Amino acid sequence: MFDPIELQREFFEGLTTIDAAIVERAAKEPCRDCGGPLYRGDYPRKPRGGRLAIAAEAFGRRFSLCCGRDGCRHRVTPPSVRFLGRRVYIGAVVILVSSVALAVATASAVVRKTGVPACTTRRWLRWWRDPFTTTAPFVDLCARLVPGPDRRRLPTSLLERLGNDGPGRLSKLLAWLAPITTTSCPDGSRFVRGAM
Ligand SMILES: [Zn+2]
Repeated sequence: MFDPIELQREFFEGLTTIDAAIVERAAKEPCRDCGGPLYRGDYPRKPRGGRLAIAAEAFGRRFSLCCGRDGCRHRVTPPSVRFLGRRVYIGAVVILVSSVALAVATASAVVRKTGVPACTTRRWLRWWRDPFTTTAPFVDLCARLVPGPDRRRLPTSLLERLGNDGPGRLSKLLAWLAPITTTSCPDGSRFVRGAM
């Protein structure tokens, strides 16, 4: 049985530090379109944390970059360990609530424990089982983890393989997933590797 961890403020401060290091690294490279300088152009977000991550609702900004050259203004949003793409819930919650849903017998018990609506959790579980398994991070993880993780128990089967420390393995999985949190930053995984 997967024991959901209660996420503390320090955990989220750690993720914010990692995201700050990622955007700092990405800002050192020139604009891909015109070679101009990239400046910070963060945008506001209002994420939800459910019951497991109330502290994460303080994440008010998605770190992003914008080309400073007139007429270009190309935007680059680097990978993030906090926001999982455009989802309203933060990445840590998507992982943990999905794990709770795999471990708990009824949908109503999942809602009680996590505060996340059942239809949202069902959608996440479908994502883990199918679209997620075709992503580059999943393919990379499978190449490293022998035998590969049980695809019917994602994401729990991945967490179990990333150590015994609850917050530690959650951060590791978020770092693995970070490249799929953006479409405007190809090869973003190198910024994540440098920031961890
Ligand atoms: Zn540019």
